[in-house]
Amino acid sequence: MGLMDGKRGLVVGVANERSIAWGIAQSLHRDGAELAFTYLNESLEKRVRPLAKSIGSNVVLPCDVGSDDDIKALFQSLKEEWGSLDFLVHSVAFANKDELKGAFYNTSREGFALAHDISAYSLVALTREALPLMEGRNGSIITMTYYGAEKVMPNYNVMGVAKASLEASVRYLAADLGPIGHRINAISAGPVRTLAAAGIGDFRKIQRVNELRTPHGRLVTLKEIGGTALYLCSDASTGMTGEILHVDCGFHVMSLSINEALHMSSES
Ligand code: NAD
Repeated sequence: MGLMDGKRGLVVGVANERSIAWGIAQSLHRDGAELAFTYLNESLEKRVRPLAKSIGSNVVLPCDVGSDDDIKALFQSLKEEWGSLDFLVHSVAFANKDELKGAFYNTSREGFALAHDISAYSLVALTREALPLMEGRNGSIITMTYYGAEKVMPNYNVMGVAKASLEASVRYLAADLGPIGHRINAISAGPVRTLAAAGIGDFRKIQRVNELRTPHGRLVTLKEIGGTALYLCSDASTGMTGEILHVDCGFHVMSLSINEALHMSSES
């Protein structure tokens, strides 16, 4: 018997097999969830369909989260297909690549608005349209954030500010959803080499610093992020909402790495 037996959910944000959303989908599927997927455009559809098929899903729908019409059409199709929804996985972000390096003050007005629209507002818009399908089902919504929302991370720039907006949105949505029986939480994941991450300047160096500084001495895996997503989407976490859970091998609790600290003490 799986934690997700009898539950149906929508996963927004699979681009390929390295996507965090795909790691999450695999964990949910292993525990019995029935899944639907979205894709951004035709070239990604070619990647998403076979992945969905490999875990027995044939509900694969288009959605650009920057379009209210797309979002409405998505949930209309899901209503016709399933009639109800138990959980929603939001794993989407976008910023102009040339604004994910250098000085944050060079962010353009358009780039600032775009990053917030796709990476933060989309959660609000998807939640609103998902609600009618979640009625009476004690729904769970999760989203993906990053430590760059809390602390300055080189090159993360406007995405860090958009993630801060996303995290605040989780808290405000939690207050909206509680009285109607639903929950929303975020996972703050450590760095994973994905398509989106490849757009961040010096991403490999950021990963290396993480490896050196985490208590685990390594990077988080997709399976570990998926395990936390499974917990948050399942009834095992019904007492939690509005939470930002760090799944980063402990990076956020460290100031210096153990090695840095030892090196300093041997010099003194
Ligand atoms: P990814 O490239 O695999 O996934 C990003 C997804 O966003 C893609 O599927 C892409 O198609 C989708 N997307 C972008 N613009 C869209 C739009 N207008 N409409 C619909 N979909 C759109 O990369 P990922 O790293 O798996 O990113 C997933 C989430 O995880 C993002 O929110 C990201 O910020 C977050 N995150 C990533 C890391 C990391 O190190 N990779 C760490 C913490 C949080």
